[in-house]
Amino acid sequence: REEFISIASHELKTPLTSLSGSLQILDRVIKKEVNTPAIISKMAFSSLTHLSKVTGLVNDLLSTTKIEQGQLVLNKEFIKLGDLVNGCCDHVRMDGKYNLRTQGDLNLSVYGDKHKLEQVMVNLVNNAVKYAPLSKDIIISILREGKDAKVSVQDFGPGISEDKISHLYDRYYRVDNSGFQQTGLGLGLYICKQIIEKHGGKIGVKSELDKGSTFWFTLPMEKKRL
Ligand code: ADP
Repeated sequence: REEFISIASHELKTPLTSLSGSLQILDRVIKKEVNTPAIISKMAFSSLTHLSKVTGLVNDLLSTTKIEQGQLVLNKEFIKLGDLVNGCCDHVRMDGKYNLRTQGDLNLSVYGDKHKLEQVMVNLVNNAVKYAPLSKDIIISILREGKDAKVSVQDFGPGISEDKISHLYDRYYRVDNSGFQQTGLGLGLYICKQIIEKHGGKIGVKSELDKGSTFWFTLPMEKKRL
């Protein structure tokens, strides 16, 4: 199964990239045309949205394959957490449906892999949007906790029952959200945990049914090397 997933996701990636390029060009051309029927503009937009979902799923499979093959390599640099947090969620802000607030010590910095930590942040914020769609407020906090920096993403959605919490970071685990269906393979939090632990940090969640969830992770703060 592992080998099949690895081959299939690699094979899917190339045509998806080409498709994405072509669709973006098409979308731009359509936007410039004055006389384009509204239905065509709508179809181009929805094609891009669906494509980005498929690309996300394939990227999750590729990340998982890499982790399983022991190829999770970190390219570390100093990162200001405020920049990381603010840079990762433009897609949610632009959507305009959510009130995304950032608070705490935005100047704290860590030594880590910017791209992979962004992947973690995007995942946690996307989960808040996906699984708590009726709660419009999302609060991102950055705090200092001893020698660690702690980042958390809080939503005010349905929450997760206690018996499910310990399984959330298992590969392919999904909570049965009867009522609303969301795309996903149950890999997002598994990938987040692997990335955070590779940085020497921890990941967890505090959640209460009908009140909401706060997903958090810590990262060790290293002294700046000269
Ligand atoms: P996926 O990649 O399928 O979205 P994840 O690994 O990211 O899966 O999440 C696992 C499960 O945890 C999801 O199926 C979802 O039910 C639950 N979950 C994650 N984030 C939240 C949240 N903010 N509120 C409620 N449930 C959540």
